[in-house]
Amino acid sequence: MAAGTLRSAWVFAALCAAGLGVTAALAENAPGQDHGADGRPQTSAVGHDGSQDDANEDAEARSHAIPACAKDPDKLGISRVVEIDSTGGPVFGGSHTHNAFLNDHEVVLTFDDGPMRAYTRRVLKALDDHCTRATFFMVGRMAVADPAMVREVIAAGHTVGTHTYAHRNLKAIGLLKARSDFELGYSAVTKAAGQPVAPFFRFPYLSEGRQVLDHLKKRNIASFFIDVDSKDFQTRDSDVVYKRIMSQLNVTRKGIILMHDIQPSTTGLIKRLLDTLHDQGYKVVHIVPKTSEPTLAEFDVPAAQALAAKGNKAKPGSVSDHSITATMPDKDDPEPETASNAADHLPWAAKPAAKPRRAPKPSVQPQPEDLPWQTRSFPN
Ligand SMILES: [Zn+2]
Repeated sequence: MAAGTLRSAWVFAALCAAGLGVTAALAENAPGQDHGADGRPQTSAVGHDGSQDDANEDAEARSHAIPACAKDPDKLGISRVVEIDSTGGPVFGGSHTHNAFLNDHEVVLTFDDGPMRAYTRRVLKALDDHCTRATFFMVGRMAVADPAMVREVIAAGHTVGTHTYAHRNLKAIGLLKARSDFELGYSAVTKAAGQPVAPFFRFPYLSEGRQVLDHLKKRNIASFFIDVDSKDFQTRDSDVVYKRIMSQLNVTRKGIILMHDIQPSTTGLIKRLLDTLHDQGYKVVHIVPKTSEPTLAEFDVPAAQALAAKGNKAKPGSVSDHSITATMPDKDDPEPETASNAADHLPWAAKPAAKPRRAPKPSVQPQPEDLPWQTRSFPN
């Protein structure tokens, strides 16, 4: 790596890795920064032969570009863009260290379960204030409920992946239903976005099943597990969640951080977290897809129907911070969810635990079947 690169502390790498996505070796050998004619750093798309990608990929390259504000030393910014090759369905994060691509003090910011306008917007604002970028693993049903919010996240330069349609535990429902929940979610988020989204997936509850992983491999969808778990759904107390994240980071010193852009604790901590990451010398790595992967026509149809149904129900401008309507076309879960406040009513957006009047007894574990999914003893 060139000394100049080290001096500037800017390392921009668009990594092209054959087979199982990026590798640690590739990360270590990441190409140094490129400078355009104006001297500003750019993201370069490096193919397997090291050449610049063709002009027909210019649009994609632009979406991977690092904004000039990321140069501001007072902002967290972005240290690298890592291009993930999803061919063959690679798995990243958590115990999947064979695919590790983060160096010491590098993090990937991820937000699951949204979008939920009232909270997602606050997260976007905090990210924008630090000129940094994240990945949003969106639930199809939520995307259908507020497609404009999906597009807003994309327009802000963030990566959008998917997180099923109805946030089911795919390991528990059999391959056919699991495949449907994944595919319908992928189609729904894509339809809501109005453009291809990243072929990046996160399992609800981080509960992967071998059969579903095999399906994702065939579909060339990359799965992302986590290294730092905010468990922001367990409390509204941002201070607790902030300390939980930082205490884990102090041990791992890097990793994929899981938060939820539907949780008030996360919206309450995000600015403080980004400030601290900056102060402690952490660097944000932005993950982007090398290519898009097609949705399946059989799921595009119900996804489009769900989106149209939402559009028919919604009056112009009716999707506000406090009004979200989602329609579920799947026969297994047919009930439409209408909420005056989605955080209080949508099944996967169950209201986080209010601050207890008395300290809970940690030895008493509620039974999962008695609780909304977010307070179950699953890790996600
Ligand atoms: Zn989730």
